[in-house]
Amino acid sequence: MRFRHYKRVMTKRIALYPGTFDPMTLGHLDIMKRAAKLCDKLIIGVAINRSKGPLFGLDDRVQMVEHVVAPLRESMEVEVLPFEGLLIHFVEQCGASMIVRGLRAVSDFEYEFQMAGMNDRLNPDIETVFLMADPQYQTIASRLVKEIARLGGDVSQFVTPEVEARLKDKYT
Ligand code: ADP
Repeated sequence: MRFRHYKRVMTKRIALYPGTFDPMTLGHLDIMKRAAKLCDKLIIGVAINRSKGPLFGLDDRVQMVEHVVAPLRESMEVEVLPFEGLLIHFVEQCGASMIVRGLRAVSDFEYEFQMAGMNDRLNPDIETVFLMADPQYQTIASRLVKEIARLGGDVSQFVTPEVEARLKDKYT
């Protein structure tokens, strides 16, 4: 009997976590840490997203992410890259095989479900992986964090001290 020898090609698993991160919250950070366990290299794609009219400029948003991912870099490869245009093109450009998204309540589901479906039609080789938001971060949304900060509220339980300081700067 002849045995077939299968050559196992070990490919590096690259995951892309895209978002606007305006600003980056503890919910985002939790998804990043958990996504890091699923891949060999994590790319965080910061969307320019002019249509959303972000409060923070692209450089600020990239810096906020850079600041929090520094500890992750001790154990793996992490890149923070800005991007514009079609997400699936950026995923292909990065050589990533999965898109990571966080799922909070039911409200995220419909939009994310549609996006994942459309992206699958555009490139069926790329999988979208959803990570359920941790209950303690479930209700954190960048939009509400900005609203609370704008009205002078305490956002320390939703963002890192660095982001909190940047929000204070913006609103004073
Ligand atoms: P986008 O404009 O792409 O929705 P966001 O920065 O708002 O960018 O969100 C990026 C991703 O992070 C999305 O998948 C979103 O559902 C997820 N996310 C946002 N906030 C949280 C949170 N508190 N917990 C888990 N996932 C979250």
